Amino acid sequence: MAADRSAIEAETVALLQALIRFNTTNPPGNELPLASFLQGIFAKEGIATTMLLPTPSRAALIARLRGNGKARPVMLLAHMDVVGVEAEKWSCDPFGGIIRDGYVYGRGAIDDKGMLAANAMAMLQVKREVIDKGGELDRDVVFVATSDEEAGGADGMRWLVENHPEHLDAEFAMNEGGRTRIIEGGKRYLAIQTAEKISHQVTMTARGPAGHAAIPLQGNAVFQLGRALALLADYREPVTLTSTTTRFFAELSNVWPVADVAEAMKKVVSSDAATSGAGAEVLSRIPVFNAVMRNGISPVALSGGVAGNVIPAEVSATLNVRTIPGHKIEDVAERIRQCAGSESLTVSITSHGQEAPGSDPHSAMFESIALSAKSLDPAIAVVPYLSTGGTDSAHLRRLGINAYGILPFPMEQPDEERMHGHDERVPVASLHFGTRLIFESVRRVAGA
Ligand SMILES: [Zn+2]
Repeated sequence: MAADRSAIEAETVALLQALIRFNTTNPPGNELPLASFLQGIFAKEGIATTMLLPTPSRAALIARLRGNGKARPVMLLAHMDVVGVEAEKWSCDPFGGIIRDGYVYGRGAIDDKGMLAANAMAMLQVKREVIDKGGELDRDVVFVATSDEEAGGADGMRWLVENHPEHLDAEFAMNEGGRTRIIEGGKRYLAIQTAEKISHQVTMTARGPAGHAAIPLQGNAVFQLGRALALLADYREPVTLTSTTTRFFAELSNVWPVADVAEAMKKVVSSDAATSGAGAEVLSRIPVFNAVMRNGISPVALSGGVAGNVIPAEVSATLNVRTIPGHKIEDVAERIRQCAGSESLTVSITSHGQEAPGSDPHSAMFESIALSAKSLDPAIAVVPYLSTGGTDSAHLRRLGINAYGILPFPMEQPDEERMHGHDERVPVASLHFGTRLIFESVRRVAGA
């Protein structure tokens, strides 16, 4: 068994290194050569694949292990594209896939080629250890690798959903979007993303009298917008705890290493309003906890002005607003309007995000992931998680699939923050933990 494991581990590392060496920086992506490489690996093992081409150089690769049909399929999803690099700020070649000090380095090591490699290894292991040994799966296990996730998915998941939904039939999916975090003192927690905040764009426009800058005017649109933004800077949306965030804080409080924060987590889920409010106040000081508790408003761009000597008639600010599922952006926009408090100011929703339901945090898939994680690390805390960022899982949830986001590689926060940054890397030991977690979760949920 130990010998088997070391062979699997060597194969996993070599696979991730190979995936990193395909430069799939998006744009342009150029994911087809990587997809063909993976297709070759599956073909050698006798696993059926389908290759779909949204454009001549991009691909979606689907591989399927057939089950007996007792239950609907489980999908393993990962994207093949990566974000760009500033190569001069890296200490090594971002596309070299080198190993140093117990880490695999490279763009995509944690977003999302690590999971792509782990998913592919899970497929190979299910084939070798279950099917080839005469075992049976209660459901199909479907591997899906997409293009274009980092640039919105028009040539990726969105294209698949619109053109080939027949490949996406599944009861459950595992995707990126969660966290396996090593916290102070070495304790770990696995945050399984079951829902995500929805991203919208709101534009705030101030209008005033135009004229020559030599004659200062009352009601200058720039001053008006500035005042409105200053008011907004002090405004916070009310705290809203969903069933996911309630369970998140309740369970995380048991392992959180900082005593006053752990105490605040216990308080915030209290049914007593004053106690809950006191807890929320403490948690609000930590940006990520603040963001999971309330709708978020972030000004991201300003526009206006025509020349150095002209008072413009109109200036505007773009706000990125992220709503908690169940909240209407129209209501938030109305509160922004009231907060700004000026009649010559308009607030309009310029991009409306699409609502997606949450995934069931009590399903067989959630339980399989939780049990598998605890079999690998009995002390790990497993919590459902509302993510502040968006993933392709929203597309799947709108199709009725219970999608779960995991980043299955245990990491300390500074390593996790290298995602989209410089010297992105995954600890080799964590790569192996994640690969086993995915394989064990799939084997459990497929009844093998
Ligand atoms: Zn990603």
